[in-house]
Amino acid sequence: MKKTTSGKKTAAGRPAPAEGAPVGGAARARTAGDSPRGESRTALVRRARRINRELAEVYPYAHPELDFDSPFQLLVATVLSAQTTDLRVNQTTPALFARYPTPEDLAAADPEEVEDILRPCGFFRAKTRSVIGLSKALAEEFGGEVPGRLEDLVKLPGVGRKTAFVVLGNAFGRPGITVDTHFQRLVRRWRWTDETDPDKIEAAVGALFPKSDWTDLSHHVIWHGRRICHARKPACGACPIAPLCPAYGEGETDPEKAKKLLKYEKGGFPGQRLRPPQAYLDAGGKPAPPLGATG
Ligand code: SF4
Repeated sequence: MKKTTSGKKTAAGRPAPAEGAPVGGAARARTAGDSPRGESRTALVRRARRINRELAEVYPYAHPELDFDSPFQLLVATVLSAQTTDLRVNQTTPALFARYPTPEDLAAADPEEVEDILRPCGFFRAKTRSVIGLSKALAEEFGGEVPGRLEDLVKLPGVGRKTAFVVLGNAFGRPGITVDTHFQRLVRRWRWTDETDPDKIEAAVGALFPKSDWTDLSHHVIWHGRRICHARKPACGACPIAPLCPAYGEGETDPEKAKKLLKYEKGGFPGQRLRPPQAYLDAGGKPAPPLGATG
């Protein structure tokens, strides 16, 4: 595992890049980080792509944290994940899909029964309406299959572009950028864009990366937002991309205090902390399965 910081500080008190890091790139990145408003387009693209490469090393197993076995299950789970944790959704969907395995089954469900199952996810009445409504649309208009086109997906009840891109990227292998709350916060901290509208953020960030990077980029950013770069207390002192980040210092910079802010794997089991980066590799240097993964 490549180290990202050397433990030394720059003159500005920011973490210096690891020894062996490309000197020119690091220098440009530090300069860009210190005064990103004057950063050229080329420097921004380089810094953005370097952040993504660093995050890919820290989170080689970044993937959607919702459990699913089919596009239909991913679509429903993504709709249910609004305003709650993926962990909560993963605890709820097994009962839902055991009782209603297909869109036709869910379309014909008694709403009160579905509400009882979905209650732990919050907003269970609205979510029940959405999943029954989208199941009806799938059954009646798409032969019981989830369509693989953005324009069809966003017509389904309760399905916006964010949900559609999650499904396209992870169930159909079509590149997409998922602009959730973590993504919005982090790309603004990194000054990749000043946009606030999700569609404009999606377009601005998409222009910095090749399309083939979009889906994995979304996972890396969201994982980083969940584990290290939190909304209230980002753990800057334990952050592998601190040398590239214009917002370094917005959170705790003391390494020991920052380590205590790291959040859990797989949505949050109390007592379970983020693994150190090298723990993502097995003894042979190959990526190890994420904590909580089975099989
Ligand atoms: S944790 Fe701090 S240094 Fe790391 S990305 Fe977030 S704001 Fe930047």
